This record gives sequence, structure tokens and C-alpha cells, in this order.
Amino acid sequence: MNKYSHTAETRKKISEALKGRHLSEECKIKLSEINKGKHHSEETKRMMSKKFSGKNNTFYGKKHSIKTKNILRIARIGKSASDETKLKISKNMKGKYRSEEHRKHLSEANKGRIHSEETKRKIRNSMINKFNKENNPNWRGGITPKHLIIRSSKEYKLWRNAVLIRDNYTCIWCGYKGNKLQVDHIKPFALYPELRFAIDNGRTLCVYCHRTTNTYAGKGSRNAAR
Ligand SMILES: [Zn+2]
Repeated sequence: MNKYSHTAETRKKISEALKGRHLSEECKIKLSEINKGKHHSEETKRMMSKKFSGKNNTFYGKKHSIKTKNILRIARIGKSASDETKLKISKNMKGKYRSEEHRKHLSEANKGRIHSEETKRKIRNSMINKFNKENNPNWRGGITPKHLIIRSSKEYKLWRNAVLIRDNYTCIWCGYKGNKLQVDHIKPFALYPELRFAIDNGRTLCVYCHRTTNTYAGKGSRNAAR
């Protein structure tokens, strides 16, 4: 203990005297000015951390009121953590998992919130890097068959929709209407690449009629390859 420390008795007296009292704004500013640029030593920090963590923390088990939360939130608006701070947070969070309950809370809190375009772009970029090719759990070494790539393309979707609309969402053979409709290539997809997106080469069939065709599920291309 250094020579400037109060005795336990004095500290208790001060604490009693200050109970329920709030510092005036002026006083707070003064204290803040005095403490500016001062840092606790590593030893002090460790000591304080030990002394005030867990159940010893005056805030243990307490929660901020919605009003306080709003004040804190408003104070943070437009401010972003420095890169150094972000790194610290990231380091601190590494290997930690949020409990189911915590995740549920976060999900509830974010409901209805809309990301700004910039944030969306950032999320997209970070996801691209995170799930780029071999990092993606579904990555199978670049073996996606060409027909699957084409089938998920924008042109294919446009072609499919155009055929469905032309055929009035009805199986052209049996007249079925419903969610089991498929769009078939009259001339096989694999053999006539130039007709892949030709609307005239498409027809709407229900899954049952489609199965009876020679070209169902690539039969046509397999037959042709033989
Ligand atoms: Zn049919």
C-alpha cells in the first residue's frame, strides 16, 4: 500500500458520505480533465480486473434499462471502433461460442433492422472471402457439372419462366396445373447447346409426363454418347 492510500476506516467514511450523492456535471468534467491521458499500470489493471470481475462487480446480475440502453446506443451512433480495438475484440472472441439463448436474443434484437448498402457490401465481401471455393463446406473441388452451372444461371431461369408463361403453367400433354411442372428441352440440352435458351425448344411438362420422355434426366445425352 502506498503512502497516499486512505486507511480502511477513512475509506469507509468517505464511501458512507458519498452514498446516494451524484457528482455535479462540473465536477465530472474536472475529474475527466485531471485523468486525461493517464493510464493505469498493468499491475493496477490486473488488480482491478480481479477485484471487479464476476460477482464482485457492482453490475453483476443487473441489466441496463431500455432508457439507458438507448442512451448508450445513441452515443455510439456513427462511431466505429479503431482497428486496434477491433483486433482486440476479435482476439478476445476467438474460439468463443455464443450460447443458443444469446444467439436467439441477438436474432430477436436484429429483427426488422435493415443493413445499409455499405454494410451489405462489407458482409458480402467478408462472406466471399470466408466461403471462397475451398473454404466453402460444399466445395467439392470444382467439379460442378456444366449443366448444373447453366441450370442455375439467370438466362436459364428467364428461359424457363418464358416457357411456363407461354404454356400458361399447364402440362402441354395432360393438362396438369400445379407445383410439379418442369420445363423440358425438346431437343436435348446437352446435344443442342445453341437451342438451350430458345423458347421454341422448351415445353412445359408435369413431372409424370416428363419421366416418359427419352430425354428425362439426361437420358438423351447418355444415349447419344453411346
Ligand atoms: Zn402431364
